[in-house]
Order: sequence, then C-alpha cells, then structure tokens
Amino acid sequence: MTYRIAVLRGDGIGPEVTDEALKMLQAVQQRFGHEFCFEEGIVGGASIDALGVPITDDTLALCQDSDAILFGAAGGPRWDDASTDLRPEQALFRLRKELNLFANLRPVRSYPMLDDKSPLRPEIVRGADIIFVRELTGGLYFGQPKKRWETPEGRRAVDSEDYSEQEIARVVRVACELAANRRRNVVSVDKFNALISSRLWRQVATEVSGAYPDIELTHMLADTFAMQLIVRPTQFDVVVTTNMFGDIFTDEAAVLSGSMGMLPSASLSGLPTGRTRGLYEPIHGSAPDITGKGIANPLAAILSSALLLRYSLGLNEEAEAVEQSVMSVLEQGYRTSDIFSEGTTRVSTREMGDLVVGRFAAHKG
Ligand code: NAD
Repeated sequence: MTYRIAVLRGDGIGPEVTDEALKMLQAVQQRFGHEFCFEEGIVGGASIDALGVPITDDTLALCQDSDAILFGAAGGPRWDDASTDLRPEQALFRLRKELNLFANLRPVRSYPMLDDKSPLRPEIVRGADIIFVRELTGGLYFGQPKKRWETPEGRRAVDSEDYSEQEIARVVRVACELAANRRRNVVSVDKFNALISSRLWRQVATEVSGAYPDIELTHMLADTFAMQLIVRPTQFDVVVTTNMFGDIFTDEAAVLSGSMGMLPSASLSGLPTGRTRGLYEPIHGSAPDITGKGIANPLAAILSSALLLRYSLGLNEEAEAVEQSVMSVLEQGYRTSDIFSEGTTRVSTREMGDLVVGRFAAHKG
C-alpha cells in the first residue's frame, strides 16, 4: 500500500528539523517494507516570498489529496511587517480550517534523563505522561462577533466564545477514545462558574462520556487546573479543553519535558482510531535565533513523525519503534544544545537524527 505524505518544511529551523523526520520515515519504509510517497509543498514566509501568499490553492490541494501532512514551522522576523496583513502563520490557520483539523493532540511527558532541564523539581515532574486534546477550529479565536470599534467614550473590542454541541461532542469523543488505550481518565477543563459556553461544554462532555462507561470523566475549572498542572502533573492522563485554554495550558505543560524541542503534536480531522487525516508538527516555532546553526533539536519533529504513523497511517508498531529509538538515544547520553548538561554528549541536529535512525535501523525483528 502506498501512503501519500505532504511535506511542508516552512521557515527558520522548519526545514532543518523536518529533514530529520523525513530521514526517520524513510528508515521506517525500509525496515517495515512500506511505500511512502513524499510530495513537497511550499508554505509560510517562503511561500509569501515566492508566490505572494502564505499558502496557495495548489499546496492546499496537495494536502487534501494526502493521507498526512508533515509540517515544520512558519514565521520569522523577516515577515513581521505591521503594514501588511500577510502573515506566514495564516498557512496553518487555512490548513486547519479547510481540512477540518478540529482536534489538536499534544502528548507531554517527562523524560527521566532530562529531569534536570525542567524548571520544576524532579520529584514533581517524574512520571508525568499527559495527552492534551485542544479544540482547534472553534471557540474564542473564531466566534462572532469579533470586532473593534470606536464609541463616543473611546475604543471597544469584542471576541466571542462560541461552541455548538457538535463541536464539543466530537473533541470530547477524541479524548475518550485516547483514554480507552491509556489510564482511562479524562479531565475536561472549563470555566463553568463564569461562562455560559463552559456550562454547555460541561453538559455535553458529561453526555458524551455516558457512551464510555469504562472512562472516568471529571471536570476542573481552568484556574484550578493551571495550578494543579504544576503542583501534581502526574494526576492527569487525558485533558480535553477549548481552543484558548488549550493554547495556554499546552505551553505551560511544555516545561514538564524540559525543552520545546522535545514536544510533538498532531492535528486530526476525526477520531484517533483507525486512520484519520492529520497534520503533524513540532509545537515549537521557526526559532530564528538558532536558524542555520545546525543546533536545533529534531526530536519534536521525529516524534511528530511517530504520531503521523500512528494516527494517519494506522502503523502502531512502527510508531512505537520510532519512540523507543528516541528514548534509547537519550538513554545513551546524546543531547542537542537545548537539552545538554554536564556529562552528556553534545550533538548537532543532523547527528541526533542519524543517531535515532541508526538505533532504529539496528533493531531487528
Ligand atoms: P520558537 O518556538 O520559535 O522559539 C522559542 C525558543 O525556543 C527560542 O529560543 C528557540 O531557539 C527555542 N527553540 C524552539 N525550538 C527549538 C528546537 N527544536 N531546538 C532547540 N531550541 C528550540 O518561538 P518564538 O521565538 O516565539 O517564535 C519564532 C517564530 O515562529 C515567530 O515568527 C512565531 O510566529 C513562529 N511560530 C510558529 C509556529 C508554527 O509554525 N506552528 C509556532 C510558534 C511560533
């Protein structure tokens, strides 16, 4: 079977880390005998420079015709011109909307060998293993009215938190399906005490969980959750929440892993069972401060390729083998600069990619 994978390297360190993820997928083809058809598209600032828009209809069509999209990063100071509305990140917004990528999955875990890289104490982060499910195409970032206007008393602006029960139900289902293969625990985060939309969110989440009798669903207020995530992160298994809360809490949770360079993500258009089209990218941006230096950590991109194998291609064994190879290289003491500490071996972006691929290829059976 041939799988079609669209590759959008993007800007800054996007191309550097995506190259390492591609190397990984090529090694998967070889070891497991699959056929992947990689097709390149241009996005972000690179697309603005070459084609005048952050993403063209052709690139969008390429993604629509693919089983999965591997994305690097978009943006950078070069395109931070306030006098134009053209922003590299619009490529991502358009992809999310047009491909209906409504569920953003961010696995966050602590790595015992990187304990010292987290600002939290090792005894707090050790054992943390959470999947966040953030609603990605609704809520405050898209709800109407959304506008700014002048009044006789001065300027005003409004954004709207707007959710339909269908939008809530489908993302909560994603969380419950994920929990079924984990520790069977879902925490739904809302602001029930202050927002009407949160009351609907809580009600629908409870209704959906009725179809999953083996899953324990609890609700937590966003302010309590913000504190509990730092005080006792090990209590959480799957966390589901709205677009804006998810945006904020997933960055907060990144401190558990020690570096942005360790965190992958998947944005899915359906349930994480079987095969669903998705976009896979590291959670970090284009990191202009280290672009071209060959020091970016490619592990988030490589781990994103593992999520691609699992959720869009249904290749679980292959995904686990990739994740184990990453773990094994970290256990051997190899580190890129962002996770380096005394007594470990510092390696470049490419060397880290080669080490993980080498570890993966050396495994037989
Ligand atoms: P960033 O994630 O690019 O960088 C934040 C810090 O983390 C920097 O010091 C950077 O060097 C470091 N870092 C990030 N990834 C790393 C890696 N793989 N290895 C080692 N260090 C790493 O965030 P930023 O600086 O706020 O944003 C830079 C640009 O990226 C902006 O234009 C922003 O809009 C864009 N951005 C894009 C995305 C995306 O494409 N999904 C996400 C976030 C930011």
